[in-house]
Amino acid sequence: MFEEGYYWAMNSTGWKKPSLDDPIQFIKGVGPKKALLLQKLQLTSIEDFLYFLPFRYEDRRELKTISSLMPGPFATFVAEVLNSGIIYMGRRKRVFEVIFQDETGTTRAKFFRFNETYMLEKFKTGEKLIVSGKPTVNKRSGLEIVHPDTERITGETANPMEMGQIVPVYHTTEGLHQKSMRSILNNVLEKYLPLVEEVIPENILRRHKFLSRSEAFHQAHFPPSEGPTAKDLDNFKTPAQKRLIFEELFLIQTGLAFKKKHAEDIKAGVKFKTRGNLIKRFIKLLPFQLTQAQKRVLAEIMEDLEKEQSMNRLIQGDVGSGKTIVALTALLTAVDNNTQAALMVPTEILAEQHYLNIRPFCEKLGVKLALVTGTLKGKERQIVYQDIESGKAQVIIGTHSLVQKEIQFNKLGLAVIDEQHRFGVLQREALGKKGANPHLLIMTATPIPRSLALTLYGDMDVSFLDEFPPGRQAIKTQVFYEKQQNKAYEIMESELKKGRQAFVVCPLIEESEVMDLKAAVTVFESIQERFPEFRACLIHGKLKKEERQEIMSRFLNKEIQILVSTTVIEVGIDIPNATVMIIEHAERFGLAQLHQLRGRVGRGKHASHCLLAAYFPVSDEGKARMKAMQNSRDGFEIAEEDLKIRGPGDFMGTRQSGLPVLKIANLIRDIKILDLARKEAFSLVDHDPHLKNPQNQPLKNAVQRLLGKHLPLMDII
Ligand code: ADP
Ligand code: MG
Repeated sequence: MFEEGYYWAMNSTGWKKPSLDDPIQFIKGVGPKKALLLQKLQLTSIEDFLYFLPFRYEDRRELKTISSLMPGPFATFVAEVLNSGIIYMGRRKRVFEVIFQDETGTTRAKFFRFNETYMLEKFKTGEKLIVSGKPTVNKRSGLEIVHPDTERITGETANPMEMGQIVPVYHTTEGLHQKSMRSILNNVLEKYLPLVEEVIPENILRRHKFLSRSEAFHQAHFPPSEGPTAKDLDNFKTPAQKRLIFEELFLIQTGLAFKKKHAEDIKAGVKFKTRGNLIKRFIKLLPFQLTQAQKRVLAEIMEDLEKEQSMNRLIQGDVGSGKTIVALTALLTAVDNNTQAALMVPTEILAEQHYLNIRPFCEKLGVKLALVTGTLKGKERQIVYQDIESGKAQVIIGTHSLVQKEIQFNKLGLAVIDEQHRFGVLQREALGKKGANPHLLIMTATPIPRSLALTLYGDMDVSFLDEFPPGRQAIKTQVFYEKQQNKAYEIMESELKKGRQAFVVCPLIEESEVMDLKAAVTVFESIQERFPEFRACLIHGKLKKEERQEIMSRFLNKEIQILVSTTVIEVGIDIPNATVMIIEHAERFGLAQLHQLRGRVGRGKHASHCLLAAYFPVSDEGKARMKAMQNSRDGFEIAEEDLKIRGPGDFMGTRQSGLPVLKIANLIRDIKILDLARKEAFSLVDHDPHLKNPQNQPLKNAVQRLLGKHLPLMDII
């Protein structure tokens, strides 16, 4: 019998050449059973393995003795099992304890999750093991190690304990031991490293003294023993790790640089004249002066609109920074140039609100406004669609229903997308395709850390609306646990008595509006009962458009004092007289969402309150989120916090952004490398806009492989 490793996948033409796409079954040591386990870790191809870096390393260059163990850092020592068994703590809680000894003393290890038979077998008295873990101090029993990694010393090989080496530690899954992971990885590298091709151009490698790609993979998995310090390894600061991080970010940035460069070649359907008649009249109608930031951002937009190329700009501005006026100015500029302008927003309520806000201006200016939502039916719908097609409708506001096939614009010159983080890339692009290269303006109220912005929107021009309109008042944010929530409602009451209004947002139960609604009804009824002297109303996504519009306008007119709602009011709603926001079950909401919700108050001239009602059990993350809310009102700071709490893989917008999930790089930790990668990528694309240079071919292929389907423009290379 051949060993599995010698079998190459056969295709109809005979032996297939090994490639990094090979399935992992063909690696020595991986049979069908292990392959299934590895699949759980999303490891199916050789390449997956290369990128599956250790999450931690064990420095066995320096073995400790038991007497030298100290609470704190990871330590590795060799010891014999003196005794082991189950200890009962209280009636139900079982702990598996192992006492280890070496020549210098004894120490104790504890396991809280275990399989008894397996443990008793593994930790037989007299068994010699290599133990690695983080010693901690237990108040009662002194130094101990909870859930250490242990490996039996078999004595079969010359260096059974991988002593004197730095040993990688991988995420594994049940039934897959650390040791077999290591040996599989070892086999993978042995066989496939020679196939790993360089993708970073030579001059960049040299400039930054980067390791070659294959050497970097090698050293990242099995660091040389004379090499890096344990600290550098754990912080991803070794040359091998840095090179791989750079590569990942560099590929993405090259794709973005490429996309941006070629987007700049796209000529706008219409080259606009700005600051026309309509705009001048519009500015005069405004009841306030524009902020400096609004003026600056508008100037940036106007400059774009006057160019031959289509605008492709993102406005980042915190909740309440006044993006709507900026958008409206752009929309009217399009109308001034005899084209249509569309504003797409994520929810019907928001679309309706924008419509109500914008309508008075349009009426005074003689501009024909249309509203398109999913609830538009029958005859009414027909008329609106016809107006859009004939060009009679000049400014069109709508939800994602704007991108549906039935809607034909007469001449779409500009598309604005509000609260863009709620849309996927595809919806965004679909709206752009509704016209002949309309100018595109995207607005987001969820500020994201700069590092993420450079990654998610690296192909756009970005404007920052970083100033609030004057006179904004403080928002005091407090958390109330369980029964204390009474206090939250007392604060609400005292504000209502002063003539202010309040939002009460109801818990997010699950992704089902029906369930959320049930919870909202309960809250609503108890509020009605408790505050009979104030008028409360319940608003949610299941109401008819007319009903919702009516409730919103009655709330705006102060006929309603308390608006109880599901999370439909999350984005965009603007009621300056509302000064209280109670968020029920705040522990269930994400940080971005909490920040958005809080943005509904503090918009007028009065100080406001954001009251977070939380109920046990509250996860550590939930606590961290509410704490972040109390500590900061700055959307950017909150976004940084969010990124830290969640980890970059799961950060808002990343998943739906269509960009690949980062495998190695971390946008918090690696911001410096990101800057470097971005600089190199943009300069490379500047010099070789079509990536034609033979030296850049491997890079081009790698970028295409990584981003291909997300970067439609790649096709035109
Ligand atoms: P967001 O950026 O969250 O979309 P909005 O555009 O809804 O913010 O604006 C928030 C509030 O600030 C609105 O009531 C708007 O009328 C008001 N506003 C906008 N710009 C100014 C300004 N320059 N001076 C005073 N108030 C302004
Ligand atoms: Mg808004």
